[in-house]
Amino acid sequence: MTTPVSIVTGGSRGIGRAIAVELGRLGYRVVINYNANAAAADEAAALVKDAGGDAITVQADVARTDDHARLLDAAVSRFGPVTLLVNNAGVAPKVRADVLTMPEASYDFVMDTNLKGPFLLTQRVANHMVEAGASESGVAPGHSIRAIINISSISAYTAHVNRGEYSLSKAGMAMMTQVFAARLAEEGIGVYEIRPGVIATDMTGPVKEKYDKLILEDERGITPIRRWGRPEDVAQAVAAIAEGRFPFSTGEVFNVDGGFHMKTL
Ligand code: NAP
Repeated sequence: MTTPVSIVTGGSRGIGRAIAVELGRLGYRVVINYNANAAAADEAAALVKDAGGDAITVQADVARTDDHARLLDAAVSRFGPVTLLVNNAGVAPKVRADVLTMPEASYDFVMDTNLKGPFLLTQRVANHMVEAGASESGVAPGHSIRAIINISSISAYTAHVNRGEYSLSKAGMAMMTQVFAARLAEEGIGVYEIRPGVIATDMTGPVKEKYDKLILEDERGITPIRRWGRPEDVAQAVAAIAEGRFPFSTGEVFNVDGGFHMKTL
């Protein structure tokens, strides 16, 4: 039997940190991946340990496929076979530009980080899971799952004219979920998409005023549940999957958005 092991990309801050801590609470060994902010990653690792799990931090830029092998190798050599990959790391465009003038460099930055990197990392980790699964007798009781969870966004179906490349990357992640779910079902690996709504993190800090108005102040508000989402709201959904509570589901989309996805009159 092996202990459940997770890689959480972008696990150092925001939604990824909350996911890492929740997995720690479930007894996971968590590989906290980050790109630039090592201090934040160290803080997250300490929180995972306080929660009852174990953690290491690994710097790797998910957009750089050259970094992927090092990330997976670090996980396996420290904790053993990886049973859960959470593709959480993601970026907004550095500048919100009209789709008619958006520079090619912004397209590449967002798509490489939010879609190409996660796609190829998933390919690598899925192959590892398949190979490890053939030689392992299973994971610890209560964690009898191997899964891949993609953190997309309401932007997967919401067209943003001033960050079209972000919407495109998240729409691509939705299909990426379907493709891997269809292929990996026969391997006993579930693949899921979680679509967060507006969540209070560093990413949404610069647009706080705009969303305060849209969520809290406008007469009807954009979400039936009238509050900002919290990173912990997303982490709860990840935990439910990580606990193995969806044994007959794959390719599923979980909206964690205060009801934003509903059309209402
Ligand atoms: P955040 O607060 O900006 O945190 C981003 C995390 O990703 C950090 O840990 C960061 O590490 C890491 N990261 C960024 N680029 C990376 C790269 N190239 N390689 C590895 N790690 C990288 O973002 P967040 O709001 O928590 O968002 C997390 C995910 O949820 C993203 O995919 C985002 O698109 C999605 N999402 C967010 C919201 C929202 O409202 N906040 C809504 C829907 C979906 P460093 O500190 O080292 O840079």
